[in-house]
Amino acid sequence: LLMRNPESQNFIDFLATMARGNKNFQAELDLLTVKNNAIRTIMNLSVPREGAKFKNLLISLVDITERSRVEQEKDLLLNKLHQLNRQLETLAVTDGLTMLYNHRFFMESLNREFSRAVRHGRPLSLLIADIDDFKIFNDTYGHQLGDKVLAQVASLLKSSRRGADIVARYGGEEFVLLLPDTTLRHAMTVGDKIRQRVESSVVESDEGDKLKVTISMGAFSMEDNNLEKAKDLLILADKALYLAKDAGKNCVRTIAQSSAKT
Ligand code: GH3
Ligand code: MG
Ligand code: MG
Repeated sequence: LLMRNPESQNFIDFLATMARGNKNFQAELDLLTVKNNAIRTIMNLSVPREGAKFKNLLISLVDITERSRVEQEKDLLLNKLHQLNRQLETLAVTDGLTMLYNHRFFMESLNREFSRAVRHGRPLSLLIADIDDFKIFNDTYGHQLGDKVLAQVASLLKSSRRGADIVARYGGEEFVLLLPDTTLRHAMTVGDKIRQRVESSVVESDEGDKLKVTISMGAFSMEDNNLEKAKDLLILADKALYLAKDAGKNCVRTIAQSSAKT
């Protein structure tokens, strides 16, 4: 047997242990057999007590090559598993077309943020955005280009979000922005900025035509804990969206705070 790397820390540890007068030493060592096979061993080394009849060293070696290979493989597989789990968790909350959060994740976030806002007496705003006349767009230019519009609007929404905001695809061509710690006044401003960005962007067709879509938005805020349930925020923002559509689309609307009590 040959020690593969006698300068290794194990060997230095061994010398240090002996120098301190210890009688036993154990370490993992990489060795080479006479057939030039690399093996990993656990070496036990004992120096007999003073006065023992034979002044010899007792060395035992246990071949743990296979064991350490299996352990390394296990670590690799566990890492891979953790990585896959993280990917799965992301997939489970992501909408495949737009890569925004999906409906389910949004509903969980709404409930969580609602409770938090109530607990701390903080405002919580919700914006619902809906693409205007999207059925006509699909009918005119095809579903595929419609999908491209959805992805593009989604990325505009995503790039407009600030720290704690949650942007999700609520359904078909509807998006939601949940804005914690945000008053209605501020939410309306945020909404209108996004509306303008969508209005001034273009989607290019395969033929190179530059096409445009617009969005309408409904906004509502819980201020002074004026709502009973998280769902109320959704219902009221949706009502506000109808007002925006009624007002001629491509605009942001809210409804009177007094509606919250009905
Ligand atoms: P309004 O201005 O009142 O919102 O009119 P609209 O046509 O946008 O509304 P409507 O609810 O009548 O139609 C929504 C359309 O959105 C119908 C459907 O074809 C389209 N849509 C929903 N989901 C998708 C999708 O994933 N991809 C594409 N391309 N279109 C979608
Ligand atoms: Mg719609
Ligand atoms: Mg629509």
